[in-house]
Amino acid sequence: MKRVLITGAAGFLGSHLCDRFINEGFYVIGMDNLITGDLKNIAHLFKNEHFEFYHHDVTKFVHVPGNLDYILHFASPASPIDYLKIPIQTLKVGSLGTHNLLGLAKAKNARILIASTSEVYGDPLIHPQTEYYYGNVNTIGPRGVYDEAKRFQESLTMAYHNFHGLETRIVRIFNTYGPRMRLNDGRVIPAFMGQALRGEDLTIFGDGNQTRSFCYVDDQIEGIFRLLMSDYHLPVNIGNPNEITINDFAKEIIQLTGTDQKIVYKPLPENDPLQRQPDTSLAKKILNWEAKTDRKTGLQKTFDYFKTLSAEELQKEEH
Ligand code: NAD
Ligand code: UDP
Repeated sequence: MKRVLITGAAGFLGSHLCDRFINEGFYVIGMDNLITGDLKNIAHLFKNEHFEFYHHDVTKFVHVPGNLDYILHFASPASPIDYLKIPIQTLKVGSLGTHNLLGLAKAKNARILIASTSEVYGDPLIHPQTEYYYGNVNTIGPRGVYDEAKRFQESLTMAYHNFHGLETRIVRIFNTYGPRMRLNDGRVIPAFMGQALRGEDLTIFGDGNQTRSFCYVDDQIEGIFRLLMSDYHLPVNIGNPNEITINDFAKEIIQLTGTDQKIVYKPLPENDPLQRQPDTSLAKKILNWEAKTDRKTGLQKTFDYFKTLSAEELQKEEH
């Protein structure tokens, strides 16, 4: 049985990766310190004899007994309100944490995939963003702690590839959504859906003309799986190129949720990117992958998940 270590296993993407690798017949070792994750995301796996969980902070030395074939490093706060609340841990998990996992991969002779992000492009000056764009990041802005940790993570990963010959993969993930997102993580989809469920007005930051391109989680996981199994070591964008303004997106949410709440406008957070759309032609070419789930279907599945949450979970504050 092939053995895979997944860090950030109790988080949104990590938990879906655990499910996917279990279903593919792997032995899965999940690792998480639960700083932004929740054990309930993987509770259904605890009875599975092919799954084990380590409660561990990956910025500390990482020890895993036995052999490992693959490592997927997904541990990191991922939403702006999380990484603004815990900026130093964010920098540490991208730098020290990545260093520990690259060292572990080298010691175990395992192939490692690193979760990078569209945020390496910052507030982009070219549109859509291809992997060849170097980015426009404010190192000292509030988002710098996340963006620069991820940029350093990519550089360190390439250094291990070039210097040690390690088998590495780098995925640049664009805004992904779906069941198991935290309702109070501040990202726009849980924010709007939570507001609709609580009967509150929907908050748009700025004038709402900024754009995002939202990818459903099942498509994202498929892209990541294919990249891991490919022989391509340079960064690859995985996301859905269907771009929408936040204004139009709020209207879609109002229609989907049937809420009769209003839209209210609040100040745009500093360095909030104005446009974001992945160019996914590289993923299409080398992985024969493209996003398949349309927004209506993906949002409905996500809303159905949020509707199952208890009244207590629904009321938890964002900040
Ligand atoms: P998440 O917050 O749901 O999951 C992250 C998990 O990592 C959490 O369970 C958290 O407890 C864990 N973690 C954080 N620091 C840790 C540490 N030091 N040691 C061990 N565990 C730690 O976020 P997510 O959306 O699932 O994101 C997962 C990864 O994907 C992150 O690396 C993120 O940067 C990347 N990513 C996500 C998106 C997206 O749209 N969801 C976009 C771009 C990149
Ligand atoms: N946003 C918003 N209202 C909210 C939460 C977010 O208008 O309640 C905006 C946010 O300013 C950004 C976009 O929605 O322009 C996407 O935000 P998110 O945090 O989901 O992702 P990111 O900015 O990291 O791409």
